[in-house]
Amino acid sequence: MKRILIILTLIPALAWSQFDHYFEAASLRIDYTLTGNEKNTAFALKEMIREPYWSGSKINLIDHLEFGNYIVKVYEKGTDHLLFSKGYQNLYGEWQTTEEAKQTTKTFDESVIVPFPKVPVEVALCHKNWEGQLIEGLRLTVNPNDYFIRAADNLNLPVYDAWIGNPDVTKAVDIVILPEGYTQQEMGKFVKDCDFFVHSLFDYAPYNRYQQSFNVRGVMAPSQESGCTEPGDRVYKNTVMRFSYWTFDSERYCMSTDNRDIRDLAGQVPYDQIYILINSEKYGGGGIYNFYCSSAAGNSFSGDIIIHEFGHGFAGLADEYYDDTTTYGDMYNLNLEPWEPNITTLVDFDSKWNDMLDRKTPVPTPREKKYEHTIGVYEGGGYEPKGVYSPHLDCLMKTFKGHEFCPVCQRAIERMILYYSE
Ligand SMILES: [Zn+2]
Repeated sequence: MKRILIILTLIPALAWSQFDHYFEAASLRIDYTLTGNEKNTAFALKEMIREPYWSGSKINLIDHLEFGNYIVKVYEKGTDHLLFSKGYQNLYGEWQTTEEAKQTTKTFDESVIVPFPKVPVEVALCHKNWEGQLIEGLRLTVNPNDYFIRAADNLNLPVYDAWIGNPDVTKAVDIVILPEGYTQQEMGKFVKDCDFFVHSLFDYAPYNRYQQSFNVRGVMAPSQESGCTEPGDRVYKNTVMRFSYWTFDSERYCMSTDNRDIRDLAGQVPYDQIYILINSEKYGGGGIYNFYCSSAAGNSFSGDIIIHEFGHGFAGLADEYYDDTTTYGDMYNLNLEPWEPNITTLVDFDSKWNDMLDRKTPVPTPREKKYEHTIGVYEGGGYEPKGVYSPHLDCLMKTFKGHEFCPVCQRAIERMILYYSE
């Protein structure tokens, strides 16, 4: 018994020393482009930047969840010794499923953040193809003494600490909130909207039980003009991160391709998740896993939208609705198990919520009122009415009627909080 205890207490200690042996408490930001169309993707390096904080876990360096179709891997140079990995999604991957990607080729900017190495490393940027195979798109050798790695600019912007649950940033989920379309005169409004974000977050289970595992900081970057661009109504605004409604021609989808400004602002504070609040009353937003989330701060549904989008960005949750209101084409290969924790194709259901199912519940479960409070396997989810199944009749990832996440989504969120806060 004693030996087991010693081993158990040793594991975190070893992981900790692994971090200190290979990494500094700072970040290496790699800016790169993805260029392609429906079928092809090419990665290209733009720049490497040293950012002053590392806010990720020092214990959980390898991402065993592997959510997302993209993954960054860091190896000790010249070996296959994996030091760090992290899965993510991106706007480019969503664009690839649109009609436009069948007709044209586009370039998107994005970044990955890894702990700053003390030793020479190789960084591999990989993506999964439609068949689920992992393809290495770019491999970089990084020498930590390389003088072309420039230090990030300190933009000298005021920071609003909206909530500090744990001052040790490596043991907390650090959310940075960025203001889009707030002028200098509207910074007081932004501060109130940051408070509203915190209030909304802790209004939902399981976040309400983990308040000490979150930090929320607002970087007060003003825009020249108030509001947000709405191309469908020919409204164009000069804003700090150039967000726009009508992304991919979907009116309520409000995203930005201005990656560099988003990352420069986010890097002013320690962060694991980026959340952009849009100074608009128009319904909309978006959320991409380990990329960024956005939502309108002035809409009456905003509390629900904010937390729904954060479900995508933070926990990798899929939308559980399946009416065809999005502009995406086929999102899921029905021959594979999707990576999102709250939908299944039943290809590998054991990896999902099979353990939470009452054995008396039929699979698939009929969408009938008597199953209203039952964890089941309901056909429809992830924009697909057929072949994709979701765990509950209702959930915040489906509608805003019930104002709560289903038990499967709650467990997925809880697991992610623990992953960051160990
Ligand atoms: Zn759910």
